[in-house]
Amino acid sequence: MAIIVQKYGGTSVGSVERIKAVAERVARARAGGAQLVVVVSAMAGETNRLFALAEQLSSRPDPRETDVLVATGEQVSAALLAIRLQELAVPTVSFLAHQLKLVTDSRHGGAQIKAVDSTRLRAALESGRVPVVAGYQGIDSDGNITTLGRGASDLTAVALAATLKADICEIYTDVDGVYTADPNICPHARRLSHISYDEMLEMAGLGAKVLQLRSVELARRYNVPLVVRSSFVEGEGTRVSEEEAAMEDVLVSGVTLDQNQSKITLAGVQDRPGLAAKIFGPIAAAGIVVDMIIQNAGAEGRTDITFTVPRADLRRALELINVVAGEIGATGVMHQEQVAKVSIVGVGMRTHAGVAARMFAVLASESINIEMIATSEIKVSVVVNAKYGELAMRALHDAFLGEGGGARPGA
Ligand code: ASP
Ligand code: MG
Repeated sequence: MAIIVQKYGGTSVGSVERIKAVAERVARARAGGAQLVVVVSAMAGETNRLFALAEQLSSRPDPRETDVLVATGEQVSAALLAIRLQELAVPTVSFLAHQLKLVTDSRHGGAQIKAVDSTRLRAALESGRVPVVAGYQGIDSDGNITTLGRGASDLTAVALAATLKADICEIYTDVDGVYTADPNICPHARRLSHISYDEMLEMAGLGAKVLQLRSVELARRYNVPLVVRSSFVEGEGTRVSEEEAAMEDVLVSGVTLDQNQSKITLAGVQDRPGLAAKIFGPIAAAGIVVDMIIQNAGAEGRTDITFTVPRADLRRALELINVVAGEIGATGVMHQEQVAKVSIVGVGMRTHAGVAARMFAVLASESINIEMIATSEIKVSVVVNAKYGELAMRALHDAFLGEGGGARPGA
């Protein structure tokens, strides 16, 4: 019998009415004959509300206690959905992480899953019941409650799907799939019928919010096929799976825009071995993710180094860099609080030359200046002035994926 894991996000269980609708959907899917496991997020807004409560009581709430608090959101929605399923005469049983022995490390607020014991899930499935699992939470080896990081109910679902060797993991959300670009910015954006794990990883890393990054990594590692779909409207959604030959026919699958980056320049750095390590060591130690780095060709033994950091980390990064600048005798530290990073993503780039050049030509034709460039096998990213970010995104989308462009569109 096929095993299907269905995950419902916060908006999908955001009200009593929505929970009723989800229960109907689960009942229908079960009537179709599959063995179903359901994973739920907290009701929309609930996790934020819980974090805010803690912050009213302490400026530095203890991470262990914060996890005890925020893990309750998923407990509520799991119980409510189970109650409704029983009302529809669907046999069901809710599970919290400790009941499933979903064991993580002890990094509160961002724990990594170490093991899942499938015994109770399998027993529930064998007895014809639908397990409803609270997402986002785990326990460490001492039995402390942990959470897996914001948005990580997706990760719970993929981990269960991998453990149970499920046939598919369906992620139900408030959009009907993965789009070629943010439809709020690009009016011609279209739903993709399918996308590879690698492309989805790049897009999630570049700010596409539809799937949580780590859940895509886990799905790729265990080859769990994903489908992203709306719980509000019927539709095929977007399939995320291994790369297929035909995927390479398309140069660009998506265009992303990240407006939450800042740029820091360290000027007049002496050009000698070990300096980059001195500069980026403390930033890495502080857990700040540096995304793009350029080092200008040195003149008279000195050079400039420019890099980007998430805007939320700008203040901390500047504090660290000012210290380093003093130590190494750099002539100055400059920064730009808001820059835009625009990227094109597509597995077709592996086999087609000239994609980056075409991207630069498109931006030139809009008179948009490129400040930084970074590439990977299936991605080209540029940093531009923040005020041109949306324009750049639209121009690139029209050029590579515009009406009649060669995307892998859905219906
Ligand atoms: N409720 C958690 C959050 O808001 C987990 C999730 O929604 O996936 O981050
Ligand atoms: Mg979510």
